[in-house]
Amino acid sequence: MARAYDALRLKPAKTKDGLNISLQLNAGLLVDLPQMDISGADGIGLFRTEFQFMVSDFMPKLKEQTQLYREAMDAAGDRPVTFRTLDLGSDKILPYMDPVPEENPAMGWRSIRIALDRPGLMRYQLRALVAAGAGRHLRVMFPMVTTVDEMVAARALLNREVERAKNLAHELPRKIEIGVMLETPSLAWQVNAVCDHADFVSVGANDLMQFFFAADRDNSRVSDRYDPLHPAALSILKFIAAGCKMNDTPVSVCGEIAGRPLEAACLVALGYETLSMPVTGIGPVKSALLALDAEKLRAEIEPHLNINTRLSSLRDIVKKFCEREGIPV
Ligand code: PEP
Ligand code: MG
Repeated sequence: MARAYDALRLKPAKTKDGLNISLQLNAGLLVDLPQMDISGADGIGLFRTEFQFMVSDFMPKLKEQTQLYREAMDAAGDRPVTFRTLDLGSDKILPYMDPVPEENPAMGWRSIRIALDRPGLMRYQLRALVAAGAGRHLRVMFPMVTTVDEMVAARALLNREVERAKNLAHELPRKIEIGVMLETPSLAWQVNAVCDHADFVSVGANDLMQFFFAADRDNSRVSDRYDPLHPAALSILKFIAAGCKMNDTPVSVCGEIAGRPLEAACLVALGYETLSMPVTGIGPVKSALLALDAEKLRAEIEPHLNINTRLSSLRDIVKKFCEREGIPV
């Protein structure tokens, strides 16, 4: 965290019009944990559990998984930690797993699809999460869910592990919240239905934008071709936030855009009150939000959504707004 932001470390991220925004960290390894205190983050909004698997020479044992999850919760103290179950395949390859050759791995056999087809691995991980959560508040979310029945099936696997722990008279988590990552356009159109089965929703904007614009996030020729501040992208983000709000389901964004001040300001204006980001984003985003009147920005953006616009980005409009308002972006 740059020294320039030291003074903001303990300051809540409250907008000028009084919204309290929770700024959380994206993490995945032990080395990330001290960043929480260094940056003054309000918790871990995305713990990428596959990182432990990717840096190991062998599949981490139950004990090793449990230990890491425990240490993450210890480091967070009273702050929330949201564990994302294994998001394997596509860009996340394990050295000790035979890769399945596929034409389009990002749209292939990956993530929750592997987990539901081969539930042994995910049940093992869920067992570790339930054990680590003993006596604590456990938050788990499932990645790359595309249909509601996948969420229902994943949730059932977690409940099975809770039952197992109960039968073995193990100490259970004090509270369990089970969330879903919304990172495919199809799930946006099922937001009402999925909220019936999710205690919270976290928008994985990296994948959501990849699939929304049909532009491979790992292909530099196309990855930056479409702006996440395109009116169509902001419309779907608004639609998701509104859908979750209607269902009283807490919603956050955990893709890279949450860590960029201009984009973060737009997300807050669209109704997101929790953002999870790389540590480098916490200071700059907080600094921007402290100077933001979210309602004013909403009024600036909204006329450009849901109309027949030819604009391919609202970036210039939002930049000018921020200049006028003295928002550092
Ligand atoms: C995302 O897709 O936005 C996300 C946070 O998950 P990952 O980048 O790990 O795919
Ligand atoms: Mg993702």
